Amino acid sequence: GPLLAGRGLVKAHGRTEALRGAGVELNAGEILALTGPSGSGKSTLMHCLSGIVRPDAGTVTYAGRRLEELPEERLSELRRTEFGVVFQFGQLIPELTAADNVALPLMLAGADRATARSAAAEWLERFGARGQEDLRPGEMSGGQAQRTALARALVTGPRVVFADEPTGALDSLAGEQLMTALVHTARETGTAVLLITHDAQVAAYADREVRLRDGVLAPQGVAA
Ligand code: ADP
Ligand code: ADP
Repeated sequence: GPLLAGRGLVKAHGRTEALRGAGVELNAGEILALTGPSGSGKSTLMHCLSGIVRPDAGTVTYAGRRLEELPEERLSELRRTEFGVVFQFGQLIPELTAADNVALPLMLAGADRATARSAAAEWLERFGARGQEDLRPGEMSGGQAQRTALARALVTGPRVVFADEPTGALDSLAGEQLMTALVHTARETGTAVLLITHDAQVAAYADREVRLRDGVLAPQGVAA
């Protein structure tokens, strides 16, 4: 079966019903693009699938485990070890340099600082952020922040990476370079990727595309 499956997901933010019964499956090693108009529920779906938000109804199954049945600390542990997340606005730690932001998840997993920092430098280079090791988020361009966030999401070797508009702050050439690096890395490591994008050129890097509309999956092959 699929590595990750959301079924019948419902989530309201106040009176806004962001998800109204959305379901999606992600296979091991698959790169899946999640597309759809602004406000269709893409980010909310990603937050439910990655265990950041608990849905009001529906189920999320990861590797045979039901996320809604896991106590908070088991869910956090699973997120730390199995998932990598890239938020739309980077959400790097402002006080830390790029290298320390990327090194942090490894240090939390028990690596010493020197090992973590050298792995961080390699990951930054892989995503085209060489020479940016000592920049703090406030000193980075949007693109530099996104490259750093992507390196941070992948440094621990997760089985699934969730990326919300990872190319949003990049011009199209830089976006293609980032996607090439992401796809290459995902193939090499067998990491599955759930990619939110509104950009058809970015979606074209995926193995498959699903489209959300008003909080549910649009029928396959039907444009939103
Ligand atoms: P929930 O309803 O899931 O508890 P919250 O109200 O806690 O969500 O908000 C989660 C995050 O989303 C907050 O950081 C909040 O600022 C942000 N947010 C609030 N309103 C919106 C909106 N209309 N669209 C997107 N994000 C929003
Ligand atoms: P998308 O990622 O497709 O743009 P979202 O999941 O961010 O869609 O949002 C779906 C709907 O829920 C939108 O109407 C949005 O304004 C609303 N929404 C999302 N997050 C919040 C929040 N934290 N608080 C209030 N409304 C939210």
